[in-house]
Amino acid sequence: MTALADILRKQIKTTGPMTLAQYMSACLLHPDHGYYTTQDALGVDGDFTTSPEISQMFGEVIGLCVAQAWMDQDAPERFALVELGPGRGTLIADVMRATLQVPGFHSAADLHLVEASDRMRRLQAAALPAHKPIWHDTVESLPDDLPVFVIANEFFDALPIRQFQRDPNGWREVVVGIGPDGELQRGLSDAAPIDALNHRLDDTRPGALVETCVHGTAVVDTLARRIASQGGMAVIIDYGGWRSDGDTFQAVRAHRPVDPFTEPGRADLTAHVDFEALARAALIAGCAASQLTDQGVFLERLGITPRAQSLAKGLSGPALEAHVAAHRRLTHPDEMGSLFKVLGLYPGTESPPPGLDP
Ligand code: SAH
Repeated sequence: MTALADILRKQIKTTGPMTLAQYMSACLLHPDHGYYTTQDALGVDGDFTTSPEISQMFGEVIGLCVAQAWMDQDAPERFALVELGPGRGTLIADVMRATLQVPGFHSAADLHLVEASDRMRRLQAAALPAHKPIWHDTVESLPDDLPVFVIANEFFDALPIRQFQRDPNGWREVVVGIGPDGELQRGLSDAAPIDALNHRLDDTRPGALVETCVHGTAVVDTLARRIASQGGMAVIIDYGGWRSDGDTFQAVRAHRPVDPFTEPGRADLTAHVDFEALARAALIAGCAASQLTDQGVFLERLGITPRAQSLAKGLSGPALEAHVAAHRRLTHPDEMGSLFKVLGLYPGTESPPPGLDP
């Protein structure tokens, strides 16, 4: 049992069952007991590993992608280089190192990091000793007068989702309540029609479960408006697919799946990203969206293999083996290469970010 479990039980006793989104927000970002506010989440010693933590090549080729996109848009002399949810700051540090040689890029870039957790902000500051990032709680306060070039890796999967199960009489929402044993447990609300899910009536049957992430579409709406009117682009990388289909809510602790309702605040909670919903939000906001592309294909197009070969020249023995394994892990379809997808957002008058198709 955790301190957060007590807090949530009291809250549920007072105001009734909570949505999964309310539960997820509390578990991840509660100021005193949230996962990202209190735990060492990332890396080999943490609970999960992300692509930038697997190899420096990931951030390096993404750096070149952003620099090329900046040059393709006539190298604006000032722009906002933005990362959403930078974790330990590894990705953005690799981006900055890889772009040092790009003439004018560093002097034009103002670095903006969107990060909710103070603990994570301290790690990011330590990873960027030579830079002076500006931190934001949300995307709302990002500059509204500069082109914005945005990177987001495994950010959207951490945003709170709601789940709805189709019923002959409408939709029943998955909620978190208190079971007969006094512990937190999953339940279902009464059925009600939900207009926002009408478009899912054609492709689902009673019993089917769909997920929505209003927070994610709101973030894309804000970014896409800025990109459409100020210039720039966004590269969104995450696991998920073109349309939410079934229960993808999961909790991970020490690299293993655990029950999301025991020990709230101690495990990472995520859900697959519904890229169709993000692309639709971008189009409505006046921005273009690229085709959804497998991470492996995207990284190959950006030249990860020649980069891997060049790094391999300086390695031997176990270090070389680890390097080859990291390349495979990031790109191979049986590993992260096709589970992870990439969506690009860009002004309709420009080409998509390098590595992505219109
Ligand atoms: N991009 C990093 C880390 C991914 S973990 C990597 O690839 O390694 C998710 C990151 O998003 C963490 O830094 C977490 O603190 C941050 N985060 C999660 N929810 C957030 C929210 N609602 N607003 C801002 N940052 C958030």
